[in-house]
Amino acid sequence: MESREIVLIEGDGVGKEISSSMTKVVDEAVKAAYKGKRRLSFIKAEAGVVSLEKYGATLTDDVLSLIKKHKVAIKGPLMTPVGRGIRSVNVELRQKLDLFVCQRPVEYFEGVPSPIKRPENVNMVVFRENTEDIYAGIEWSAGSDGAKKVIEFLKRDMGVDKIRFPETSAIGIKPVSEEGSKRLIKAAIDFAIKEHRRNVTFVHKGNIMKFTEGGFLNWGNELSKEKYGAYERDGRLYIPRTGESDLEIKSCIADAFLQNIILKSEEYDVIATLNLNGDYISDALSALVGGIGIAPGANINTSTGVAVFEATHGTAPDIAGKGIVNPLSIILSAAMMLDYIGYGEAATLIKSAVRTVLKNGFVTKDLYDTMLKNSQKGVLLSTEEFTETLISNLV
Ligand code: NAD
Repeated sequence: MESREIVLIEGDGVGKEISSSMTKVVDEAVKAAYKGKRRLSFIKAEAGVVSLEKYGATLTDDVLSLIKKHKVAIKGPLMTPVGRGIRSVNVELRQKLDLFVCQRPVEYFEGVPSPIKRPENVNMVVFRENTEDIYAGIEWSAGSDGAKKVIEFLKRDMGVDKIRFPETSAIGIKPVSEEGSKRLIKAAIDFAIKEHRRNVTFVHKGNIMKFTEGGFLNWGNELSKEKYGAYERDGRLYIPRTGESDLEIKSCIADAFLQNIILKSEEYDVIATLNLNGDYISDALSALVGGIGIAPGANINTSTGVAVFEATHGTAPDIAGKGIVNPLSIILSAAMMLDYIGYGEAATLIKSAVRTVLKNGFVTKDLYDTMLKNSQKGVLLSTEEFTETLISNLV
């Protein structure tokens, strides 16, 4: 029997509830898809507050080594204590494993309440750069020695005279590199080619930030031409393909993009963007198709193959332990994970069960409350009932 081990970090708050739901669904899907020929087991690892209390660190070297060894992990949400100088484990995982792609598919499931008229037109996969940009964490608070030194250097050595209030300015640095941009954009284009998608859009603010966000756009166009042989036709860029239409390479300024996803979402397919834009875009897009309770995500290093799949929402302390949390975010992330490790048949079973259950109006409280507001009919289920309903639809 072929067997595969996955590292599981259950997480804090609702983490245990959603992880338990996810492992049950995955076990049943693997059984149904491979009838005992393939197996998948979860190795539990601890991170976050639990790990801090037991081992003195929110993320230990042992856990990092375990993930590197098994290559693939899945995690629930982790609480970051505010104001205790503790770094986010999510950020640490991304940095220490160099998980430079944050991949967030955004797809509409019939039956889910949406604030837009034609949510079925939303079908995008966002590739957000995960390691650079203003998110790199290089910043100094207003009035600090660091801020004073940087401002002084900018004025004295760089001739900068545009800092309006130098005495009271906080300073942040936005590194955006050719290498960092190109590896992210390559991952997005490779995905679009493999999945037979129609287009890739580089979303940027290069009109204002010429060298950082503008650089991202230029490097994207350069890569499309040099590595993929992209050609121009009627002022548009295309990557040639055989047996299907060529892959269109587009670009859009971030603010216009946020309007366009509401007004004409059908025009977009795969998105490649920088860290901060990607953060806003992922959440705005997930709101169009049911919100954070159902949005899946993954952090991947496409060179080493190490990938951490995750629930994209937080620990939801207000509902933890009540048996009402929506487990779909981590379940759909698990479906992405199954695809990633070559267990595509099990992934398809899960997605098709999700589709059937939601179409029939079976939902947890988060979606049920929105359905009530929209005068939409639904059947309210607890997390456990929802899990069982999903499992009974794995056919
Ligand atoms: P949150 O996502 O935990 O909750 C926001 C709201 O959405 C709450 O009302 C919550 O009940 C609801 N909600 C979230 N997920 C839900 C689900 N699956 N089903 C039903 N309702 C759901 O965000 P927050 O309150 O800002 O953050 C709480 C904690 O989570 C913080 O400590 C924060 O640091 C952490 N956090 C972790 C991650 C992560 O690990 N990836 C992400 C975001 C926040």
